[in-house]
Amino acid sequence: MAENRNQDMTAPAIVTGYEDKFYYEIADNCVMCGACASGCPVQAIERADTQYVIHSSFCIDCGTCSVLCPTGAVHRTPYMRESISLNQIDMSKCYFNPGCALNLYKPDVPEKMLKLLQDHFSYVKFHNICCRHDPGLEAGSTIINNCAGCDRRFRSLYEGINTISYWEVIDSIPDLILPDHNGLRVSIHDSCGYRHKPQVHRAVRSLLAKMNIEIVEASFSGTESVCCGDNFYGAVPNEQVEKRIRMRADQFPCDNVVVYCIGCVRAMISGGKVPLYLPDLLLDRTGEPMPDTLDEYHSKLEEYIQNH
Ligand code: SF4
Ligand code: SF4
Repeated sequence: MAENRNQDMTAPAIVTGYEDKFYYEIADNCVMCGACASGCPVQAIERADTQYVIHSSFCIDCGTCSVLCPTGAVHRTPYMRESISLNQIDMSKCYFNPGCALNLYKPDVPEKMLKLLQDHFSYVKFHNICCRHDPGLEAGSTIINNCAGCDRRFRSLYEGINTISYWEVIDSIPDLILPDHNGLRVSIHDSCGYRHKPQVHRAVRSLLAKMNIEIVEASFSGTESVCCGDNFYGAVPNEQVEKRIRMRADQFPCDNVVVYCIGCVRAMISGGKVPLYLPDLLLDRTGEPMPDTLDEYHSKLEEYIQNH
């Protein structure tokens, strides 16, 4: 069995393949206004004879073009394999994977999230191999993911591996006693990797309501969410990444912004907001400071990924 593989001296080789990203394409109701191309941070969109076109190999999945288009011509491409629903999980092959960024920045949290599942859902096993490495699980296994990027990679890179979000699972537990956050007012930033999953957005909002948290939605949220800016890292100079981060942060009506991705935590701090990481709210723990610069964050994470 593949549990505790991160204790191996040598991590398995990094897997590369076609990752099921949220790519976009442009339909023939394009009126050639050029708004999408002007807004694309990586110049992935160009004018062709009768409409604009997106070059998917350059696209960084930020979602900007889809919210700028006045005719709805920009739409997502079909994804390769969907995550599954609760009643499709084979509980004899069910695992929880916290993701590298959570392990790195909040090392006490994964065990607590696992315990919540084991105490109130079912006996879920721990799986702590990075999603960029072969998960080493038998076909038909399900990985419950905290991280949207892990969910996408496990599902699209490895044949026979099913995924579901941690949030849907936790929200499904009847009568689970959760912390009371006393009417705290927040906005929500929905992660890119879960942008096409309204079931995750519903579960997150349901959990917040159960924790007595009031939601003030931002203009772009749920399936219309746009990137916090972190996806831009490496594609454009850092100053532009930080500019996009501030632009996204400014779209939230509340200072408190609930996020469920560690990269989004860093981005919201950098954008002048107070990020409330969903696992911290769920476990009623205080979030720790995250002073890393963009370069520090990405280089620490890359090193962790290489070794796990
Ligand atoms: S999703 Fe972002 S990067 Fe991709 S084509 Fe649209 S604007 Fe450009
Ligand atoms: S924003 Fe929409 S209508 Fe305008 S060029 Fe882009 S795809 Fe066409």
